[in-house]
Amino acid sequence: MRPDSEYQAVLDLIRAGLNDCAISRETGIPRTTIRDWRHLGQRGLDERQRQRLDPTCPLCGTANLDPWWYAYLLGLYLGDGCLSEYRRRVFRLRIFLDLKYPIIISECKQAISAMRPARTMAIGRSMKIGCVEVHADWKHWPCLFPQHGPGPKHLRRIQLRQWQEGIAQTYPHRLLRGLIHSDGSRFINRVNGTDYPRYLFTNHSPDIRQIFCRACDDFGISWRQSRWNSISVARSPDVAKLDLVVCPKTQPAPITPPAFKKVASQTPSALNCFRAGVMERYT
Ligand SMILES: [Zn+2]
Repeated sequence: MRPDSEYQAVLDLIRAGLNDCAISRETGIPRTTIRDWRHLGQRGLDERQRQRLDPTCPLCGTANLDPWWYAYLLGLYLGDGCLSEYRRRVFRLRIFLDLKYPIIISECKQAISAMRPARTMAIGRSMKIGCVEVHADWKHWPCLFPQHGPGPKHLRRIQLRQWQEGIAQTYPHRLLRGLIHSDGSRFINRVNGTDYPRYLFTNHSPDIRQIFCRACDDFGISWRQSRWNSISVARSPDVAKLDLVVCPKTQPAPITPPAFKKVASQTPSALNCFRAGVMERYT
């Protein structure tokens, strides 16, 4: 297939009033091809772009996005994940996790698989010093994580898009679980012989800390800034509430994913629902 730039150049020459022979002489493209492109016009360019889109992508295709798993994966990505670009504009989602917590590693894989249920996502793992990198390749990771950009996250603005905000506000506990699994901890504070469990979230990015705090607000728990880069949740009712959805890292998920229900056929993409302000419903 000839590149879009050639197609666009021919369209420009057609609009300038040149005939097929003149355009062919100018561009070196056969006259019959010019004739076909003249017939297709802008429609042909749109069709080319459409063919390049991936129907399994929830953003530029028509796939449904499972917000329950997405909120969790977003938390892992913001905490300790990144995208790396490889050849042919394929991106690798890389999530770095502690080797000590196999339950989190397997939950991370589950979340990645849920992003593209129509295809089997090849998920690999590479051992690093003290941690494991869980990774999967896909051209459309930047669609799902538009925060991708050059440089470390704490040195640039990290803002959620409107559709991500919608998911974060509906599933703050899932976002919190992902954030705590990557950059948080649950530890015991002993005061006068009594154990008080606490949660701590540590991240250098003020934007990501703010996302964590907003998720706490949405989930209805109080937080406080304990150090310049740390947020703590220490009140026992708040810790108890967080325990219901996060729990110690060595324990399996306290709740299982609800059955994902596809919404109305006239809105095939979950994101269209979010854009329209209508959230996905679970049974
Ligand atoms: Zn896409």
